[in-house]
Amino acid sequence: MRRLLLGFIIGALPYVALAELRTWTTTDGRKAQGEIFEIEGDQIGLRIANREYRFSLSRFIDGDQAYARKWQSQPRCELCSKTLGTRTMEAGGKTYHTACFRCLACKKVFRGGDEFRRDQWGMLAHVDHFSFVATCGSCGRMFAKREAKREQILDSNRFACLTCLSNAVLEEKALGLVNERVKKALSQIGIVKPEGKITLVLVDKPTLDEEAKRIRASGKLKGLTLTKFRTVTKGNVSNTTFEHRILVLYGLPHTECEAVLAHEHMHVWLNELFVEAPPDVVEGFCNLGASNLLKIETNKLSSILLDNMQKSSSPTYGEGYRKMAEKLSRLGWPRLLAEMRSRGKGK
Ligand SMILES: [Zn+2]
Ligand SMILES: [Zn+2]
Ligand SMILES: [Zn+2]
Ligand SMILES: [Zn+2]
Repeated sequence: MRRLLLGFIIGALPYVALAELRTWTTTDGRKAQGEIFEIEGDQIGLRIANREYRFSLSRFIDGDQAYARKWQSQPRCELCSKTLGTRTMEAGGKTYHTACFRCLACKKVFRGGDEFRRDQWGMLAHVDHFSFVATCGSCGRMFAKREAKREQILDSNRFACLTCLSNAVLEEKALGLVNERVKKALSQIGIVKPEGKITLVLVDKPTLDEEAKRIRASGKLKGLTLTKFRTVTKGNVSNTTFEHRILVLYGLPHTECEAVLAHEHMHVWLNELFVEAPPDVVEGFCNLGASNLLKIETNKLSSILLDNMQKSSSPTYGEGYRKMAEKLSRLGWPRLLAEMRSRGKGK
């Protein structure tokens, strides 16, 4: 007997600009050199060694908090986050340096009546010039297609911004390392090692879509789990063995790759228990695995990815995730896992 089971995850997200480098000290005495690039509510965005992180402001000593509040009180350019001078432009309730307020494709400063689009990172482009604009498939940042380096073009129509590309998973050895981290984190919530062997495969988008089509999966896939099982019955004793293949899109930044892998490992767990549940329960549950990994990370990408799941209008990945997250906060992991296990059809 053979059967295929499946699963996947969607995501889309974003990055930003400069301020002054200084030493930041946490209340437990740790120090890092970094610069603020944004403050939202009680979350402070710090760029440390060229990567964007987000922390709760209360993690820092009083002097740092005061510095951050002062930074926040000064009017700043939406694009570069430096303080505004006399030459400024306003659009859609945001203020920019006149020099910053330009289309990333044609480089011209916007004029009254121009229609433009703004990404989550403040990058701007004429609507009419959108065919010259590439959007990072992971963080959503826009950049000019003609300025893209060859390695930023991952598939025919899939792009990576330089920041996401700088820590992209491009070979299976790197995927294996990310996978170790994911397995460790999941084991801490009770997702134990599966019985069957898992083979990890990095694939390009056409291959992933092709595999998905074969098992009638749809959506903006970034990962896919294929489980084969075989049951051998001797007398009245049945023995079931499993084999899993997890396909992961190549070129995802570490953080997103962790989330995708975690989601797929949750499918493996469900598949071995033969859990049968509606798609919103299954995908919502698997996204809990992804969110678990994203909450461990403190970089800006992870908080954007979490936010995307939180706001996703998808009935399965969004709605389903929110329902399952609510359930998790009520039950906790051990009881939630027990409940899912009880939906299993046994082997
Ligand atoms: Zn899934
Ligand atoms: Zn500016
Ligand atoms: Zn333009
Ligand atoms: Zn990106």
